[in-house]
Amino acid sequence: MKVSVFIVNPFAENCYILWQEKGSDAMIVDPGMADSGERNAVDKFIAENELKIKAVLLTHQHADHILSAQYIAEKYDVDISANFADNMLGNRLREQVAMFGLRCNSEPLVATRNLEEGESLALCGENIKVLNVPGHSPGGLAFYLPDSGCAFVGDSLFAHSIGRTDLPGGDYSTLINSVAEKLLTLPDETVVYSGHGESTTIGDERRYNPYFALNYK
Ligand SMILES: [Zn+2]
Repeated sequence: MKVSVFIVNPFAENCYILWQEKGSDAMIVDPGMADSGERNAVDKFIAENELKIKAVLLTHQHADHILSAQYIAEKYDVDISANFADNMLGNRLREQVAMFGLRCNSEPLVATRNLEEGESLALCGENIKVLNVPGHSPGGLAFYLPDSGCAFVGDSLFAHSIGRTDLPGGDYSTLINSVAEKLLTLPDETVVYSGHGESTTIGDERRYNPYFALNYK
């Protein structure tokens, strides 16, 4: 599995494209491109590598992660897969855009496929396990790829930090429990791809993340 990252929008959100090789199936995690320039860069990458987009997966429905989800879904004729517990955020994309001070037009997001903990998605030659990680938002998800040894965790866990919990629907103790129970229990060598910033590993976060290190020494 190849992981290509596009750092997009004023919040430096990580939009990931997961693919195998030229001409293979591919999926996009959190397409937060804010303008046509950012969308064109992603489209160009897809075209140059002749990728067949099979899914849009959303870790959660904050504006900076979903700005181009509708665009990608329509252009490549795929579902928008997300946890519907976050639909109250996606439905209010315009209000979110205003709240975050973004300058872009956005129709409300309509997720078309609900993903729940316990589901396994067979996509692009991978077995993707869906994990519920609420706390940063009510419908937060992580996507764990055991065969590739990596997880896409959105804004629940960052390198040596965690996501904010002061936005609508956020809850600190829920997030702490989610990360401790669902993510830090994955194998140490699992590579963690977060919604912002550098990648890390589960082992590194178990040892050095200040929100959890004391509990795991
Ligand atoms: Zn977020």
